[in-house]
Amino acid sequence: MTYLTIKNINHTYFTKTSATTALSAVSLEVEEGEFISFLGPSGCGKTTLLSIIAGLIEPTSGSVTLENKPVKKIRGQIGYMLQQDYLFPWKTIEENILLGLKLTKRLTEENTQYTLNLLKQIGLAGVEALLPKQLSGGMRQRAALVRTLSTKPKLLLLDEPFSALDYQTKLKLENLVSETLTRFHKTAILVTHDIGEAIAMSDRIYLFSSQPGRVYKTFIIPEEFHTLSPFEVRNHQAYPELFQTIWKELESLEANTTKHQTPS
Ligand code: ADP
Ligand code: MG
Repeated sequence: MTYLTIKNINHTYFTKTSATTALSAVSLEVEEGEFISFLGPSGCGKTTLLSIIAGLIEPTSGSVTLENKPVKKIRGQIGYMLQQDYLFPWKTIEENILLGLKLTKRLTEENTQYTLNLLKQIGLAGVEALLPKQLSGGMRQRAALVRTLSTKPKLLLLDEPFSALDYQTKLKLENLVSETLTRFHKTAILVTHDIGEAIAMSDRIYLFSSQPGRVYKTFIIPEEFHTLSPFEVRNHQAYPELFQTIWKELESLEANTTKHQTPS
């Protein structure tokens, strides 16, 4: 059985004066434990698709099911992590990371210990009583990841979670997130506009074209990369060629988009 099934998604945003078709005929499948990336130019519908997969937006047409259940019915089992950490500034890190459990009435002793232990494993032991502003950007994103994992989601959706971080922190976090998700055998979808990040972290990359957003190409990442850390992938001899291939595809897409947008 396929784990996550995205079937023929179309989505149009309507405002009083306009209609924007954000997604057209998007179909794809994800197996349990896979790490998938959505790559594409800005505005190609990546965030829209992620919100649909999270069950937060009802698509104009099409369906998304996780283990055969419509995602709208199992929202609590899908974890969503954004570029901005959205930690509450007036709550301590401990309160922040336990919030998901509290809201879903699962704040048991066992789940609390699981979450606090996760915080240690992700290298944040000792920050429990601190406020978010006392942490660096990278530390805050790690805390946000712990909060996302605290409810043991069946699926993790990561919308450009590293894009606001400096390069070195981003590389370190890629490794840490990858290692953590592998250890817990998590299924994840990452949205990124960073080709290197997509190659380094994924089993498969979906490249989207825009206006409307659709799956333009799929890239299968070589098996030999799967056992390597993202940092090691970036240093692998086969990495530059794959990067070039995807780069060229993305360039041609962006050139087309610009052509369409040229004012007449
Ligand atoms: P991406 O995440 O790839 O940058 P989005 O999913 O945010 O793309 O947006 C896809 C398209 O839908 C864009 O043209 C954007 O302007 C439009 N869009 C996104 N959200 C809304 C909204 N709430 N109302 C109207 N149009 C929207
Ligand atoms: Mg987006």
